[in-house]
Amino acid sequence: MPSYDLVLKDARLFVDGGLVEADLAISDEKIAAVGRNLPQGSKTINISGKIVLPGLVDLHSHIRDPGYTYKEDFRTASKAAAAGGVTTFVDMPNVEPPTASLKTFLAKKNIASRKSIVDFNHFVFPTISEVPKLARAGVAGFKIFMVRGAYPHDPRICVEDHGLLFRMFAEIQKTGLPCLVHPSNMSLFEMYYEAYRKSQPRDAKYISFGKAYVEELIYGTSVSVLVALAKKTRVRLHLVHTHSEMAIQILREAKHEGYDITAQVDPKYFVTSPEELRRLGPLVLPGGLLSKQRVAAIWEALGTGVIDVLATDHAPHTKKEVEEMMAKNPWEAPFGCPQLEHYLSVFLNEVNKGTISIAEFVRMASSTPAKIIDVYPKKGVIGIGSDADLVVVDMKKEHVLSSEKVYSKVGWTPYEGRRVRGAPLMTIRRGEVIMEDGMVLGKAGSGRFVKPLHRRVRGRRH
Ligand SMILES: [Zn+2]
Repeated sequence: MPSYDLVLKDARLFVDGGLVEADLAISDEKIAAVGRNLPQGSKTINISGKIVLPGLVDLHSHIRDPGYTYKEDFRTASKAAAAGGVTTFVDMPNVEPPTASLKTFLAKKNIASRKSIVDFNHFVFPTISEVPKLARAGVAGFKIFMVRGAYPHDPRICVEDHGLLFRMFAEIQKTGLPCLVHPSNMSLFEMYYEAYRKSQPRDAKYISFGKAYVEELIYGTSVSVLVALAKKTRVRLHLVHTHSEMAIQILREAKHEGYDITAQVDPKYFVTSPEELRRLGPLVLPGGLLSKQRVAAIWEALGTGVIDVLATDHAPHTKKEVEEMMAKNPWEAPFGCPQLEHYLSVFLNEVNKGTISIAEFVRMASSTPAKIIDVYPKKGVIGIGSDADLVVVDMKKEHVLSSEKVYSKVGWTPYEGRRVRGAPLMTIRRGEVIMEDGMVLGKAGSGRFVKPLHRRVRGRRH
């Protein structure tokens, strides 16, 4: 009889696309057995019939470390992640200095290794000469911004030149790694802002900015270029911020033609209500601005798999800097909001409402993101031999989300005052309980760099 390190008794496990009543045993950080009446382990926890999901894998975390650690660092962000059931995250290159070379990647990996509680990797800006070296060093993938302005939209890692985009895609394609792009079209963005200021001068500047920011044509035009370049170069394009109907339509067609192009959407666009926008102002921007039809199109695209992945876009800034600078001049202001902590609760509430099923949520927030960065089935699934990354959830628990007890350094949540049903109770990362009843227990530095398994066959769909 094997002796297990940890056994979870009387659980409802999400296995093979559905919930199964069983026990789960963990040995050497991995799932060792799933079955009825497993023996006690060195430690045994009775789950009392609660649901156990694979830990979430987030492909869009802005950790702000190095360079902007007054906003967030790997210690605080990973605590927020642990509190919210996220056991692996991949962060973004818009830090100081920008992560755009092997040297800056290794420096950041070193920082994360010392501070993070959850497992991690990084997306790096694809400076062409550095791409092969970064691939060999185990980078999760690449990230390009097409939006530019004040921080966090750093002009140094913004690419608007289509020729340069083509060359970057062609170089990345050779590595088989994904390339994330934030689509935008700056000249249209600027044009729309001026138009809103003229036609609706009584709107606060941040409202005009927010309305311009989400204009369909900004995404439709840029996504059509990106998809055309991806079709030609066969890069594994992964679009972020897929909240436009034009973008969704282009994506649907490309997928239908068999191209390996994937997309994500982050909650602020379609789970923030106009009422919350009025109450919280620039803190929830650009949420609450999309038409009902557009929000419905996002849910539909998630349900049909046109949008593959949910991601947090955890993007902390201090409340003061967002509110003050947005009121003065939106073009020089930061925007974005902390998400890691309450993201799971927000979507468990959607599961309870029936907007999405628990299976769809696990696919979009755990399994598919793990596949995109090629760490599946090590991550993103409850299966024998997989890392024991788990989140225990209580689907019935009602609670009000609040800024009072958040781990993110900026100390606020865009969901202030929102009542939800469904909550994470316990987070387990590689067999270690790192959060229990809202208390983060994991030690800084216990998170580990997780590199691609390189099981994907390059260009497998063609
Ligand atoms: Zn982002």
